[in-house]
Amino acid sequence: MLNKGCSEEELFSFFSRKKGEDIDHSFILSSMCTLPHPVAVQAHCMFMEANLGDPGLFPGTTSIERLLVSRLATLFHCPDAGGYATSGGTESNIQALRLAKVLKPGVKSPNVIVPESAHFSFKKACDILGLGMRRVPLGKDFRMDADAAAEFIDASSIALVGVAGTTEYGMVDPIEDLARIAGQHDIFFHVDAAFGGMVVPFLSRPVPFDFALPGVTTIAVDPHKMGMSTIPAGCLLTRDPDLLHVLNIDTPYLTVKQEFTLGGTRPGAPVAAALAVLDYLGVEGMKAVVAGCMKNTERLIAGMETFGIRRAATPDVNVATFVCGKERVPGPWKVSWTCRKHLRIVCMPHVHRDRIEAFLTDIGEQHA
Ligand code: PLP
Repeated sequence: MLNKGCSEEELFSFFSRKKGEDIDHSFILSSMCTLPHPVAVQAHCMFMEANLGDPGLFPGTTSIERLLVSRLATLFHCPDAGGYATSGGTESNIQALRLAKVLKPGVKSPNVIVPESAHFSFKKACDILGLGMRRVPLGKDFRMDADAAAEFIDASSIALVGVAGTTEYGMVDPIEDLARIAGQHDIFFHVDAAFGGMVVPFLSRPVPFDFALPGVTTIAVDPHKMGMSTIPAGCLLTRDPDLLHVLNIDTPYLTVKQEFTLGGTRPGAPVAAALAVLDYLGVEGMKAVVAGCMKNTERLIAGMETFGIRRAATPDVNVATFVCGKERVPGPWKVSWTCRKHLRIVCMPHVHRDRIEAFLTDIGEQHA
């Protein structure tokens, strides 16, 4: 195969077989990604060859990236914020902590303060950047304890992190309190809204988590999660539009002479896809999607509780968790389990109401 190549027919029948081995989305209840919206797929296909790593060659795609940043910045109450499209929450979190470190050059053994619920990408970030990670315990409500967080800050602390929409329990940390604490200590405050950034602004009663709070320095948000973009589409936003330039390095052979991104070659396609969904649906359309996911989350929790399967938390976003043994969940459903061994289900847009009802029926039969 490697030497002679193969026919298109052989090639694509192989790919069809492989695709058939993937799990059917109608059984995936564990993922924070979802089926891309049809306009995302169409936009993605239009920009397959666009490389945002060499912006002078793709000025049109580059302006789409700027539009995406500006849309999200406006949504997060700071229309002039800076930012760029990342490969997702991991890259955004790494870059945020990199910024914090570069801005505090003289600190010996620098540390960052994160909630116990922080995504594992912070472990990677701290490892790469040589930072100590202080994990703040959660309160009974699975949210970061803000008073405890304040106790953890010392002269070597370069950043405080809060999460808006935690990966495991779907909680929003007390971002307002944390932002105030960050202000009092004059410390960099990063909000990881990789999941919740595309949910909280569209809730009927949004909790404050963004640049409306003066202490917030940066925000990570992922259009490839609830933004229904194609993968990979993340975004790092900075309140100060010029902040990212402190990361600039020289890029002599490109059409631009400096860059602050982590990746070099960067895909334009998912960025166009992300903007496509936002512009096509608008705030009203996103509100409808989020309302549907929240209703399904509520229905799932209520349905499970009729079988005596208690919720582990009452979530702020569309992640439902339960006190439930592994043996109670029938196949072929794909669910996940938290560190504390709770059953976890993410009610993403592809998890329609009929899937929730089918899951409840199956688990009810198992339970009978
Ligand atoms: N932050 C949060 C809150 C997440 O839930 C996730 C992933 O689920 C990430 C960061 C990492 O995002 P990615 O997998 O896109 O790098």
